[in-house]
Amino acid sequence: MQQITILGATGSIGTSSLDVISQHPTQYSVYAVTANTNVEKMLSICQQYQPRYAVMSDKDSAQQLKLLLNGSPSSPTRVIGGQQGLLEVASHDEVDTVIAAIVGSVGLMPTLAAVRSAKRVLLANKESLVMMGDLFMKEVAQHKALLIPVDSEHNAIFQCLSADYVANPYAANPGEKGITKILLTGSGGPFRELPLNEFDAVTPKRAITHPNWSMGPKISVDSATMMNKGLELIEACWLFDIDEKNVDIVLHKQSIIHSMVAYNDGSVLAQMGNPDMRTPIANALAWPNRISSGVEPLDLIQVSQLDFETADEKRFPCLKLARDAFKQGGTSMAILNAANEVAVDSFLNKQIKFTDIPKLIDNTLQKIPSNAAHHLDIILDDDRRAREFSSRQSDFHSQRMSR
Ligand code: NAD
Ligand code: MG
Repeated sequence: MQQITILGATGSIGTSSLDVISQHPTQYSVYAVTANTNVEKMLSICQQYQPRYAVMSDKDSAQQLKLLLNGSPSSPTRVIGGQQGLLEVASHDEVDTVIAAIVGSVGLMPTLAAVRSAKRVLLANKESLVMMGDLFMKEVAQHKALLIPVDSEHNAIFQCLSADYVANPYAANPGEKGITKILLTGSGGPFRELPLNEFDAVTPKRAITHPNWSMGPKISVDSATMMNKGLELIEACWLFDIDEKNVDIVLHKQSIIHSMVAYNDGSVLAQMGNPDMRTPIANALAWPNRISSGVEPLDLIQVSQLDFETADEKRFPCLKLARDAFKQGGTSMAILNAANEVAVDSFLNKQIKFTDIPKLIDNTLQKIPSNAAHHLDIILDDDRRAREFSSRQSDFHSQRMSR
């Protein structure tokens, strides 16, 4: 029986993970779940899955959950409040697998704790790799953690790589394995065809309505700006030890192919399936075996057509910002990520316009000097400076908007 901790259990990935786990009760058991403030959802998760621990990062929410669970004395769940609890359940001796599904940079430290405790880490929190990819992968190798990507594109690439590469990616040289390109696919989000002069008026409600995927608000806005694909480009470079020059972004509006790997003999391997995160989650849970996920079988006759186009950096300036940050190296990617988190938050709170998001990130990247990312403290320091700067910028934009 695999004991599992789900970091971010109340979110979109958390919910899909619980769904897959519940289909295999003899193989997987939920040991701990975590959330920030969603007490109601956490209560229902605790009632259904009876975990040993439930962590609420927000201490008031933890108190509320405690009171509600005390009403059912048979509950085996111990409630912990505060950030420290995240680290404890991510590294607990009895845990085999950690699903890292907290959104944003707050997911970094608990994900790192799981890596340092040599867990099987199912990585959805792409922000950890964007912030400290080089150091993160070194920690994975040093602690012999098993890192399996859950992000659908990266899980697709993982499935298209040969078994020896997958088993030991850190020792592998992609060129030696005959890999010439990674083709990272993306739907183009809700604004693939929106006239450019309408971008200014995009509302949060429109931006979070994705044509193919149902996801949390932050990644939905990232998909609309295509910063999500930019973050995924960086994620792919670190995960698969490949240079950005060898990663092409391909728009594929049907979201049936989840990414591809091209080899020097002319072969291009693709992983296909309906757009449902339960497929990569099930793959990552069971690898190297396979388990059912509850996802409808793919009906290619009904899909009938697969389209591909190039991604336009004018329409989606965040793509270039992300690629340039990778090229620049060091803490640039942490600065990009921090500025993006602030900008998306400000946009969702209606403080800035949709088109201000890339401007804010660009300004931050220009103003905050990047450093060599030799140490976590340096990265966290630049992350903080980028947040302070972009928050001030966002206040400035929001005052301008309210005038
Ligand atoms: P979500 O917003 O639906 O859920 C986020 C989870 O993180 C919630 O459980 C929430 O309680 C927790 N959380 C938020 N702030 C927190 C804080 N300050 N402290 C502790 N916990 C906190 O997000 P999501 O869509 O499930 O995405 C989660 C991660 O997975 C993101 O990094 C995202 O990029 C990645 N991802 C998501 C999808 C998807 O389909 N949703 C696909 C690929 C990758
Ligand atoms: Mg993805």
